[in-house]
Amino acid sequence: MNKKMNIAIDGPAGAGKSTVAKLVAEKLSYLYIDTGAMYRALTFAALRANLDLEEGSQLKELLDGLTIQLQHEESGVRVLLNNEDVTDEIRTKDVTSNVSLVSSHEGVRIEMVDRQRKLAETGHAVLDGRDIGTYVLPDAKVKIFLTASVEERARRRYEEHQKKGISSDFDQIKKEIAHRDKLDSTRAFAPLKKADDAAEIDSTTLTIPEVAELIIELAKERER
Ligand code: C5P
Repeated sequence: MNKKMNIAIDGPAGAGKSTVAKLVAEKLSYLYIDTGAMYRALTFAALRANLDLEEGSQLKELLDGLTIQLQHEESGVRVLLNNEDVTDEIRTKDVTSNVSLVSSHEGVRIEMVDRQRKLAETGHAVLDGRDIGTYVLPDAKVKIFLTASVEERARRRYEEHQKKGISSDFDQIKKEIAHRDKLDSTRAFAPLKKADDAAEIDSTTLTIPEVAELIIELAKERER
């Protein structure tokens, strides 16, 4: 494999980015970096500290005192916030509905992006997020913009909840997903956007292994 072969996977909420990214990383023996988990960890800490989430400077100050580690274990990636395991806590409704606001602040993003670039320095990483191909790693060798219809994304999320025994309402999930996409794609700084040189994959009718295979093929092509 080439020296620098980072893979950027961006796209709207619920398109399957993290599952696909994990699988691609596993197959290529790359490091998987879930950038959304980092914004979620900060949101969790900010909610716990009762901060005003409109105040970017307070959030940045909080972030400066936090270490966020993505620890790879056999059972999956554990998210550690100042060494405290917050893997489950960062997936709650409360965090999900506030993370777009927290991540919209420029100061917060600049710091997060700096950390993400450091994590990707090995050059053999798969990063998933919203601004990886456009801003975090504009030179990534492989850029993917993964989409799916909002209906399909909501259906997947709903099924996920069903499996975990979490009661939820399909229409509500759909509304929340659409709302988060709107906030993420209209924020002023580094919004969710397809990079000009990204390959767009619509996963509406594809399985996760099929999408992963397409990305791996693309990575192999770029390597030649
Ligand atoms: O990927 P996930 O849905 O966990 O991301 C949670 C939120 O974090 C997104 O809705 C977005 O507001 C923010 N995010 C971001 N930039 C990234 C990754 C996530 O703004 N690179």
